[in-house]
Amino acid sequence: MKRIAVLTSGGDAPGMNAAVRAVVRAGVEAGFDVWGVERGYRGLVEDRMRRFTRRDVSGIIQLGGTILGSARLPEFRQKAVRTAAVSTLQKARVDALVVIGGNGSQAGAASLWKDGFPVVGIASTIDNDLVGSDPTIGVDTAVNVALEAIDRIKTTASAHHRAFLVETMGRHCGYLALVVGIAGGAEAVIIPEIEQTPGQIERDLRAAYECGKSHAIVVVAEGATNNADRLGEYFRKREPDIGFGLRITKLGYVQRGGAPGGFDRVLGTRLGAGAVELLARGEAGKLVGMLNGALAATPYVEIIGKTKELDPKLFELAGIMAK
Ligand code: ATP
Repeated sequence: MKRIAVLTSGGDAPGMNAAVRAVVRAGVEAGFDVWGVERGYRGLVEDRMRRFTRRDVSGIIQLGGTILGSARLPEFRQKAVRTAAVSTLQKARVDALVVIGGNGSQAGAASLWKDGFPVVGIASTIDNDLVGSDPTIGVDTAVNVALEAIDRIKTTASAHHRAFLVETMGRHCGYLALVVGIAGGAEAVIIPEIEQTPGQIERDLRAAYECGKSHAIVVVAEGATNNADRLGEYFRKREPDIGFGLRITKLGYVQRGGAPGGFDRVLGTRLGAGAVELLARGEAGKLVGMLNGALAATPYVEIIGKTKELDPKLFELAGIMAK
């Protein structure tokens, strides 16, 4: 194996640049020629790749987003589109590909592997829903960005005795909302995995005021059935009866942006170097992540089609802390 390529795909996550940098530098150190692909799988199909030197990745470890760019390419599910991608790689005499991304991106990588091209994945998504890595690149920074917002909102919530709702990202997975809720001292956390009625939330908020709290914060994942819009509507109607309304802040893409924290920079660096180590040993068809504090490479056959399950004890803990 002489030449490897790296791409970032799907939603960008803070720390992706640290992983790109590590793949390039550890790759060069291991004697590989390293190529960078622009805009994920789309760049492969459109033949947008070039050789990267150590210096090409200087000064990027502290940057959010991804210097390679990312894209979503739903057509990558089609064999013919993947064949075009493989032919770009073969034309450039690339022997293996490193895919930095979340669940969807790793499903794409697993398909390439099944088609016969050597691929190694790096677990990177702020959703933290990938089986094969306890933390994924970007989650820690996203949690801290959301906390900064919550801490500010809490100040005004206390001053005005108001209830606030903060919506975090997370279409299918409530991990981010749950951890933000625990660390932000929320009175209620609403996630897609556990149904809660607006009436239950009303009871939690009333209880918070009745036990003497000066503020009430609800954290909701965007994918929950009773999301920010639905709860906003419910509380607007109920305000005359219950005596307080719910002010809504949607964090949205703010959570993805900004500089990666120290944890994600180190995680990205370790996973990037880990992917190169795997390729140097001639291994592929695996996702590189951290399990129980150590680097781990999990075969794609064990992770594709699965989603990391939320720890119900964490949800319980959020409830106990809210009282
Ligand atoms: P995040 O969830 O953090 O946004 P992700 O990697 O899960 O990141 P997706 O949009 O789900 O983001 O997937 C990124 C890209 O991966 C898709 O646009 C598509 O090109 C490819 N992809 C997703 N699912 C598959 C699949 N089943 N087969 C082949 N390619 C896929």
